[in-house]
Amino acid sequence: MIKQVRADYNAPVIEKGVQDFWKKDNIYERTRAFRSEGENFYFLDGPPYTTGSIHLGTAMNKTIKDTLIRFWRMKGYNVRDQPGFDMHGLPIEVQVEKKIGVRSKREIEEFGIDNFVTTCKNFAQELRGSMTEQFKRLGVWMDWEDPYQTLKLSYIEAAWWTLSKAYDKNLLVSDSRVLTWCPRCETALAEAEIEYWDEKDPSVMVEFPLTEGEGSLLIWTTTPWTLPSNMAVAAHPDFGYAKIRMKDGERSKTVIILESQAEHVASKGGFTETETLERMKGKDLEGLGYLPPFDIDDRYRRKTEWRHRVVLADYVEKDNTGLVHTAPGFGPDDYETGKRYGLDPFCPVNEAGRFTEAFPLLAGKKVKTTDQDILKHLEEKGILFASEKTQHRYGHCWRCKSPHNIQEHKAMVPQGHRHKGQDARRSGQGQMGPGMGRNIQREELGRRCQGLVRIQAKVLGDPHAGLDMPLRREARRGDLR
Ligand SMILES: [Zn+2]
Repeated sequence: MIKQVRADYNAPVIEKGVQDFWKKDNIYERTRAFRSEGENFYFLDGPPYTTGSIHLGTAMNKTIKDTLIRFWRMKGYNVRDQPGFDMHGLPIEVQVEKKIGVRSKREIEEFGIDNFVTTCKNFAQELRGSMTEQFKRLGVWMDWEDPYQTLKLSYIEAAWWTLSKAYDKNLLVSDSRVLTWCPRCETALAEAEIEYWDEKDPSVMVEFPLTEGEGSLLIWTTTPWTLPSNMAVAAHPDFGYAKIRMKDGERSKTVIILESQAEHVASKGGFTETETLERMKGKDLEGLGYLPPFDIDDRYRRKTEWRHRVVLADYVEKDNTGLVHTAPGFGPDDYETGKRYGLDPFCPVNEAGRFTEAFPLLAGKKVKTTDQDILKHLEEKGILFASEKTQHRYGHCWRCKSPHNIQEHKAMVPQGHRHKGQDARRSGQGQMGPGMGRNIQREELGRRCQGLVRIQAKVLGDPHAGLDMPLRREARRGDLR
């Protein structure tokens, strides 16, 4: 029955009255029962993280979802309305780390992994409870008695089941990839998880002496700590390079660089005169051998045909020296170039961002703190051509604000691209709404389908972290507790 409209509108009082009415007369349950014979409508809730009070954006999207669910119910549909909560992985871990005052994976191990996982679970459950109350207060009609929760074993097992199906069909292979990595959180970062701001870093030009003939290849880098991992130097096949003698009084150096950069480079090195001795195209440099800046045991840096030679790459730009220090263990482009020339990635850095024993000179040190040590070594060796500080945009982890590393990691890589035609066809068979979501999914299916299996957690949410896939399969058949 519609009542007389009142002149005043007291939202808190009216809302409370409505919610009391829903509760007292079981209106939600009765509505669901009333539509239970209707045609099915499948609604899938994207789960918010249980890391605090609900975010304003979550409040808005839950309200929109609620409106949609109500709309389809009013049209007579039996709507599946299970809400979800994302309850494990790094966002929870980071909050709990703050709460109990630990800062690294090692400190978590000291605290006790069981202890830590239990604390995380309790934390997530507590917040699920308070967030549920907030959603109810917003008037959202969903099945709050039976939400899906990503930390439940049934959920985790379903994810492993899916992966195991892919593995059984040879659609999941062990490979390595160069990933953006947070050394503090000890996990990979997706592009959306990187925050950029300016950092001051060294900008250095380093000589790599030729193994035959006079002179050096001159490279430029802003990450001197990646120099121990150097495997090659990349030149652009079509650019014009030259062997140039640079002089300043008695002092002289002979270097190979982009010819157009001669003046710029000479001034950086404090030279006043340049003399071009020989001109060549980048492609003529291919295969030229040089001495790397650091000696590394061959056990760690395998000798292959192209190791420490000039290789060719189209991404080389016409700036600095035009010769790019190539470390396939530390950059996606370098990694691909390395692959083309059969160069192994050499990554003497562990997951916490510290040098390993493969680089004894600085083993145990955090890589980002070693630039000065590296420069000192280069200077002593007489191969530091120029050094200054430069301000440049650098990526940081959105959670902990640490500067990221880019480094090689072993990863399981789904081979989804093999089935992309089939998947795209299938995705077109059902009805999906909104249309924008369907289009995004189709595009994604058509494009790459070759992401990585990433487990963004140190200890929570990955019951078999550290095991190889076949072992995980064995474990899967056993218990998952
Ligand atoms: Zn981080």
